Amino acid sequence: MNRITRKAYAKINLALDVKGRRDDGYHLVDMIMQSVDIYDTLTIMEHGRTEGFSVKLVTDRDDIPTGSDNLIVRAVEIMKSEYEIRSSMLCELTKRIPVAAGMAGGSTDAAAAFIAMRDMFVPEVSDGELEKLALPLGADIPYCIRGGTARAEGIGEKLSKLDDIPECALVIVKPPVGVPTGEVYRSYDGMINVSHPDIEGIIRKLGAGDIKGAMKMSGNVLEPVTAGRYTVIGELEKFLSEHGSFCSMMTGSGPTVFGMFDTRDEADEAYRALKEHSEYGSFECFDTATITAVR
Ligand code: ATP
Repeated sequence: MNRITRKAYAKINLALDVKGRRDDGYHLVDMIMQSVDIYDTLTIMEHGRTEGFSVKLVTDRDDIPTGSDNLIVRAVEIMKSEYEIRSSMLCELTKRIPVAAGMAGGSTDAAAAFIAMRDMFVPEVSDGELEKLALPLGADIPYCIRGGTARAEGIGEKLSKLDDIPECALVIVKPPVGVPTGEVYRSYDGMINVSHPDIEGIIRKLGAGDIKGAMKMSGNVLEPVTAGRYTVIGELEKFLSEHGSFCSMMTGSGPTVFGMFDTRDEADEAYRALKEHSEYGSFECFDTATITAVR
């Protein structure tokens, strides 16, 4: 049977700025994206040849849609239609990335689906062509197709590759609150006195290998919105700082928080302390390291 398995890596934002809004409502962003080694696993297989467009998804999580609202199903349908692929497809998803977390879980699954369909049926199609095809489905999907360390501008589709950052230990924690991305951006629009991170300056520091200097200057303009609603975000950042992280901040529209550590041992210790803390112990916590090579 024709069958292919791909890892779909989550991302964090090392910095996130919003520059404005287009007439169609899309926000113009300037973000530094970084893949991390928390991943979903997607297997797709041919399921018989048909004239129709049958795409079936099974997953181990019961809190995400499995029909045409799932971005994997949409991505497979787009590939079938664009390249006239007359097969029914079965997709199996093992989900580890927290849902609605600011870690691009749905977008990275969709990216893995685009890549898997390309590799299976149309290997001559370039990443660039795939990114163009994927953009209407979601502004973060082109980045997820590339992965690694990158600057994303425009609505997220203007990508510039950045030098790989030095490997560093992370603790990532998602408190049990759901944050709809659209709502956070809408609230952001009403904010005044926004303090914008100097993305160019951060990139210069990262390029010089000074990750601490870079992260000291960094920021996420959406954080005051989400952290204003959920005080646990600030508490988690404080907890991680008190347990040795040299930087702790929120990724995307939240609510996930990450802490960066000098050594794996320090990260392990903070992770253990987090798990032992009566309030935070049940949160989705990950003890991980950044990665740069994603495929
Ligand atoms: P982003 O960081 O891109 O804003 P997110 O990490 O905050 O995304 P997702 O995990 O992508 O959010 O989930 C947002 C919603 O997308 C979910 O509530 C779910 O209904 C829908 N969704 C569609 N496809 C998927 C998928 N493959 N995995 C998870 N959620 C999906």
